[in-house]
Amino acid sequence: MAEGKTAIVTGGSRGIGREVSLRLAALGYDIAIVYVGDENEATDTINECEKKGVKARAYVCNVASFEETKAVIADIRKDFGSNIEILVNNAGITRDGLIAFMKESDWDSVLSVNLKGAFNMIRHTAALFIKNRCGRIVNISSVSGLMGNAGQANYSASKAGIVGLTKATARELAPKGITCNAVAPGFIHTDMTKNITEDNSELLKTIPLGRMGEVSDVASAVIFLLSSPYITGEVLRVDGGIAM
Ligand code: NAP
Repeated sequence: MAEGKTAIVTGGSRGIGREVSLRLAALGYDIAIVYVGDENEATDTINECEKKGVKARAYVCNVASFEETKAVIADIRKDFGSNIEILVNNAGITRDGLIAFMKESDWDSVLSVNLKGAFNMIRHTAALFIKNRCGRIVNISSVSGLMGNAGQANYSASKAGIVGLTKATARELAPKGITCNAVAPGFIHTDMTKNITEDNSELLKTIPLGRMGEVSDVASAVIFLLSSPYITGEVLRVDGGIAM
């Protein structure tokens, strides 16, 4: 079905991005993952994708950089050709702190990676999607962006920004047959949440389904949106009911 088509997944080396990459590889997409430094994890993901019979490569690129993202898209086109159909903007970081004490650098780095990073990647792939009259974009937001979260002013702002970016992009590119949606996860077991334990009953009380989510829960929603040609501008919560 996806033979000869390429999917780009930022932050594809670990966590949610890895699971999304493996699911797309299982559907037959060639996979280009973008990561920033963890080569061992990236190599593992690439090897797992290749086992599914597709071509897979990993690219080191800081998504916060306009120039680096421009260069990485050019490299991916050189390696995979122009039949790029999917972009999943998943790379993200946290630098939590109370707003009264938050360092300017922590605000800037979270906004740069989480929000500008998604802009950069869309900016450098949009012309190709328009030319191909085909493209599916999914951006990873968060319930923190929908509800706000104390101690995460920078992260919540970046993830709320993703919602606006998603809807504006969806409206702008819809006439060209391109969709753009977002997934807003709640608490998902990954490296990002390794300091959160489910022994914390206060946390569990905030989750109606009574448990943290798994990367597979989020990947299923991403794949659903990527395979839904008549859904655009949607924000799909995968949060066990937190933000209902
Ligand atoms: P994770 O396990 O910490 O993995 C983060 C990924 O992003 C890694 O592949 C990392 O690359 C990459 N990355 C970080 N900074 C980057 C940069 N500047 N340029 C390129 N790649 C970069 O995170 P996760 O939990 O899977 O989260 C994935 C997405 O879901 C994030 O956007 C996060 O905000 C969102 N989310 C997560 C949760 C949760 O509970 N886990 C909840 C809501 C939303 P390296 O491996 O090279 O470091």
